[in-house]
Amino acid sequence: MPYPTQPTASHFINGQYAEDTAGAEIPVIYPVTGEQIAVVHEATPAIIEQAITTAKVAQKAWAAMSGTERGRILRRAADMIRERNHDLSVLETYDTGKPMSETLYVDATSGADALEYFGGLAGSLTGEHIQLGEDWVYTRREALGLCVGIGAWNYPTQIACWKGAPALACGNAMIFKPSETTPLCALKVAEILHEAGLPAGLYNVIQGTGAVGAPLVTDPRVDKVSLTGSVPTGRKVYAAAAAGIKHVTMELGGKSPLIIFDDASLEDAVGGAILANFYSSGQVCSNGTRVFVQKGIKEAFLKRLHERLQTVVMGDSMDEATNFGPMVSERQMNIVQSYIEKGKAEGARLVCGGGRLDREGYYLEPTVFADVKDDMIIAREEIFGPVMAVLDFETEEDAITRANDTEFGLSAGVFTADLTRGHRVIAQLEAGSCFINSYNDAPVEAPFGGSKQSGVGRENSKAAINHYSQMKSVYVRMGAVDAPF
Ligand code: NAD
Repeated sequence: MPYPTQPTASHFINGQYAEDTAGAEIPVIYPVTGEQIAVVHEATPAIIEQAITTAKVAQKAWAAMSGTERGRILRRAADMIRERNHDLSVLETYDTGKPMSETLYVDATSGADALEYFGGLAGSLTGEHIQLGEDWVYTRREALGLCVGIGAWNYPTQIACWKGAPALACGNAMIFKPSETTPLCALKVAEILHEAGLPAGLYNVIQGTGAVGAPLVTDPRVDKVSLTGSVPTGRKVYAAAAAGIKHVTMELGGKSPLIIFDDASLEDAVGGAILANFYSSGQVCSNGTRVFVQKGIKEAFLKRLHERLQTVVMGDSMDEATNFGPMVSERQMNIVQSYIEKGKAEGARLVCGGGRLDREGYYLEPTVFADVKDDMIIAREEIFGPVMAVLDFETEEDAITRANDTEFGLSAGVFTADLTRGHRVIAQLEAGSCFINSYNDAPVEAPFGGSKQSGVGRENSKAAINHYSQMKSVYVRMGAVDAPF
């Protein structure tokens, strides 16, 4: 890779880079050009064993430190990430293909936000005191032990931090397995955490496909599994973790509704729909890909959307003027193209896009289908690319019923000038992360996660603490023990 800050080996274990070339080669492809820019090796059983044993040893002493001490290290790492934001953003762009106009503002910075936020919370994690007459109970908030994080490929730096920061703040160790499609960024997160003072072994990164993830999930020494991935993978990982009665967080896929009422600001609604479908070239789990538009505003909405999409700047992701990048891989491009063909075959009206760009790399045009019907495949399945499905509706009740008619429940959004209606509709939508007159904001202070088949547990916010710690209650008797015999 023509860049000096690339990771120097495949894995990061016990505070340093580690290599085992016996592992199968995983090529790292730059999606902008299709060129191979690096190779990592899949973790061998020996690498997996080192990752587990060093993490187990390090975790006990880490949990015994005060929360303030742990938090100080995380906050230092946050500062270092911000100082190195430019280089980390370049790496994120190499890993994912996302344009620098996104990565400079969203990826390393949101990772730093998580480290800063959970670093700040670490010193305030406490149990409580419950007086029972003379006797009393106290609770201790304790670490779970060894947590495994498994990432998707769309936000490799952010996911590595969103899982690592709360895990470490609560006194756990983490082994993180990035997606095999984007293996580079998590290594830099590990490097920076240890440079900031994290004791060796507490944040190990190992590479591989699901074949490396699976034995981590079932290893009896692992106490918790946090997965970001698709629903089919979630089903497998959740079931495997359940066999060992392990804690889980599942951040899975979606097919989220975005409901636009006649009275909404046209410009804001179009802007929201763009953010909900085309940011990161549509490769965002919470995207509002089923855009329900009330009949009175439909034609104006489609016209303005079409106009604004003409101003998209597709091109070299390293050029900061570019605001729309490629699909992460040839495979993902093929998947999305096959959905576009299904949309055409099912009779949806292609408003714009639908093609591949005539250039190197895995570029697809931003694509909008109108007159989409609820039972079409493009309205039911997660596409995970730049494909918006616009559906018509007339009444509020109809929109809510149809929006909820899905197995997914990650996100939902409403655009309306009537705020009473906005709150009323959001309250009835079956989704975990919702928006009124906005879309896809994910500040670290707010809980993030899905309901129904989109997930279990929450990331970010104080809610994440409950998913990375457990309560021990201690009954203290002050008098004699009154036994029956
Ligand atoms: P994926 O399900 O194919 O893979 C996710 C991760 O799981 C990868 O690291 C993969 O190697 C690993 N894996 C696969 N099989 C495994 C097994 N049997 N045991 C252990 N690990 C295994 O998902 P993807 O294609 O990388 O990412 C796209 C999906 O992720 C989309 O469905 C998207 O909606 C979802 N996603 C969800 C969120 C969220 O926060 N809810 C965020 C980003 C992406």
